[in-house]
Amino acid sequence: MTNINEDYIEGYIRSIIPKSNENLAAIEQYAHENHVPIIEPEVAQFMKLILKKNKPKNILEIGTAIGYSAIVMAQSTDGDAKITTIERREDMANLAFNNIKSTSYSDKIKIIIGEAHEILPLLEGKFDFIFLDAAKGQYLDFFKYCSEYLVPGGVIMSDNVLFKGMVATDDLVIRRKKTIVKRLRSYLQYINNLSGYVSCVIPIGDGVALTYKEDR
Ligand code: SAH
Ligand code: MG
Repeated sequence: MTNINEDYIEGYIRSIIPKSNENLAAIEQYAHENHVPIIEPEVAQFMKLILKKNKPKNILEIGTAIGYSAIVMAQSTDGDAKITTIERREDMANLAFNNIKSTSYSDKIKIIIGEAHEILPLLEGKFDFIFLDAAKGQYLDFFKYCSEYLVPGGVIMSDNVLFKGMVATDDLVIRRKKTIVKRLRSYLQYINNLSGYVSCVIPIGDGVALTYKEDR
């Protein structure tokens, strides 16, 4: 369905993932009905594991949508961890705000409404985990800011990097997505060959990339 994995593999993996709690299940349902592209269950699971292992205290997300991944991150980190999340659509940010309000994480998650490329230069402080999940054609621009804000030993996780498989083969590319695909390919080339960083592309969900900033 996503052109990344065979349906039976994806279906099997999803069948063994524990069910989401009530709050998240309601958001998943809304996302499904309204075509909001939230992280897939196997990506959420992977993200939880990375967060539990790395225990970041200062998280940045680009692309809040309705707050689903922000809540997943809040659930998987310590009580004193903070999440800053950027969303350019006010309607989405309002939905996220309300969704977050119905969890116990309102103090943990701060939503900033605005264009990421305008907000990013204004951010202060350092982050130890950054989740890129907004305009896919702009990942390289986002990354250049984010890598400056990332502490050594920190991780940047980028979602949708295989973009329905189009990034891996021209056979799947549809014409109006050509530019995004070209940019995502440049992005993956860049992060995979960047000195001082180690990256890895993982074929789950719509393709996830992890980038580790070396600690020396
Ligand atoms: N991370 C969310 C899904 C995000 S969908 C989750 O998994 O639950 C991507 C979101 O990024 C959309 O809501 C879109 O409005 C927002 N977005 C896209 N480009 C952006 C930009 N340049 N600046 C800020 N937000 C952006
Ligand atoms: Mg995504």
